[in-house]
Amino acid sequence: MIQMTEGLVPEPDMDHPSWRELAACLRLEEGEVDFFPDPEDVGAIAVAKAVCATCPVAEECLAYAIETNQSEGIWGGLTPKERARLRRRWLEQIRRAS
Ligand code: SF4
Repeated sequence: MIQMTEGLVPEPDMDHPSWRELAACLRLEEGEVDFFPDPEDVGAIAVAKAVCATCPVAEECLAYAIETNQSEGIWGGLTPKERARLRRRWLEQIRRAS
């Protein structure tokens, strides 16, 4: 599990989104796995998380989702609720450091 600290969150470079090109979800057939499942659908969430667990860029994906406050879907193997906890901690670290 990534430990969110100020220095660990890479700046997303949208001109050169190289991490996205390595995404495991990019190798799936369209619609094969739902990365935006119903929050109550534990089965679908588990399937998406299993793909993320094999993804070589899960940390980058998670950092991007937290930094840009993605409120829906599975990113970096975490649900919105799980990311919200990390984001609160990350923002608190930034507040304390400033
Ligand atoms: S961590 Fe999951 S959602 Fe993010 S790029 Fe990898 S497979 Fe896709």
